[in-house]
Amino acid sequence: MVELIPSQDAVMQILKRTGAFREGHFIYPNGKHSPHYFQMPLAFRYYDTARVLAVALSRKFRLEKDISSQLPKVAVISPSSGGIPVAFGVRDALNAEQIYWAEQETGKRMFRQYVNQGEINPCIIVDDIIRSGNAIQETVDLVKSLDTRIIGCGAIVRFDTAPSEIEGGPVRSLMDFDVKMYDNEQQCPECKAKVPGEQVRF
Ligand SMILES: [Zn+2]
Repeated sequence: MVELIPSQDAVMQILKRTGAFREGHFIYPNGKHSPHYFQMPLAFRYYDTARVLAVALSRKFRLEKDISSQLPKVAVISPSSGGIPVAFGVRDALNAEQIYWAEQETGKRMFRQYVNQGEINPCIIVDDIIRSGNAIQETVDLVKSLDTRIIGCGAIVRFDTAPSEIEGGPVRSLMDFDVKMYDNEQQCPECKAKVPGEQVRF
């Protein structure tokens, strides 16, 4: 059982190797500066890597009685497109019955039309990365409006600035990351060291 869930170090090695975690000097659209950047779909473009990460996350959920006792009548839900490969991988590993994902439509997080009240099984919300926790919280509100119970929540990476609990349950992750984010160039050590900055899209 020892190697079934990779260590945080092993997860970081995978993210570095695939380019999903990058180090340097990054400038975000909101003007913030950071020495690191995550682009998680780069890890999920390789099937083997995607499988290792999703299976590992699924094992954390399977250890929870409230989840394992309800399988397979469980839904795995992603807040956005980035979490879809994670949701499919976790669903597959748990053999859960349903999968859904939300998308932003005119600024509002929604499911596709004709997903109706009462149709969604008790759910696990999974994402590739949890930064602020806003996307997860909006998804919690969305599934609750459809009378669905949330029995789990997690991501491959969780920023340490994100909530560690959602709806009274722990947020599961394979790696918790110590975020360094600077409001402007005056505060940014890379700017001070004259490291050239790179604009990132989001
Ligand atoms: Zn900077």
